[in-house]
Amino acid sequence: MSTLPPIWLTIDTDDFFHHPKFQGHPKRSKLNTEQISISNDLKLSFSRFEKWHLNNLSMPITFFVIGEQFKCNIFKSLLEKLLSNSKKKGGKLTIGCHGYTHTCWSAFDPNPESFKADLINAKTIIKKSVGDFWRPWFRAPGGYIAPWMAEILKEEDFVIDSSINPTFFLSIKSGKRNKKLRYNGWKAVSLAMKKAGIIERPWLTTFYPALPSCGPALHIPFLKNFASSTWKKYSNTTYASEIEILNSDVAITTVYWHLLDHSKKGGNWIPPLIKK
Ligand SMILES: [Zn+2]
Repeated sequence: MSTLPPIWLTIDTDDFFHHPKFQGHPKRSKLNTEQISISNDLKLSFSRFEKWHLNNLSMPITFFVIGEQFKCNIFKSLLEKLLSNSKKKGGKLTIGCHGYTHTCWSAFDPNPESFKADLINAKTIIKKSVGDFWRPWFRAPGGYIAPWMAEILKEEDFVIDSSINPTFFLSIKSGKRNKKLRYNGWKAVSLAMKKAGIIERPWLTTFYPALPSCGPALHIPFLKNFASSTWKKYSNTTYASEIEILNSDVAITTVYWHLLDHSKKGGNWIPPLIKK
């Protein structure tokens, strides 16, 4: 028996144009695209993911969806079709919130009013579209989460945050603390979540040293080998149940990949997990 914590599988539904190099970041976004229509790669990813998922129904998965994506009717119907096909076969999919827009909030000065409005818009459209699959669980776009955001999440009834990539060199994403260019750090974000009564579920990193192992790290040369061997260490653990995810006394390991990843390798990419 493995002594490692149960694993929580999560997927972000970003399209390629949501990447900070295109939109949502004060310095990184060069093109500022306002595209809404789903890309062909994301369309392909839906069908490739569904095929993999229906063969792996023992794996519960939470999708973090961007509210704005529902403005695209194709995206909306692909997600609805996926959820209903999965439900019919006994799949365990749930839907959380990845913002209404893909704004990298902590890269800007604190803006509680705009963040609150974004959350309200996201909740309204996602809940309306997915019904019972909805969970009040949040993931900050790009992993840009700062302590000031915790209180707003609480006000909007979120109970889980899963935005922290606890590697030292990414603590720049925890928001600026003062003019000397010092950052809040992940500890400050965790404390703010705790104070607000929100359970923080940080992402898996490699063991020593703690390097990123989720999302883009699954595809970056060199990093990807460490990432996939770290994921495979969790092959003998159980999958985190909703009760475990919601119990702050239970340690769980959170991993995430992008739905778009399923379009890689000619549509044959699958996450580095071993079927149990
Ligand atoms: Zn994202």
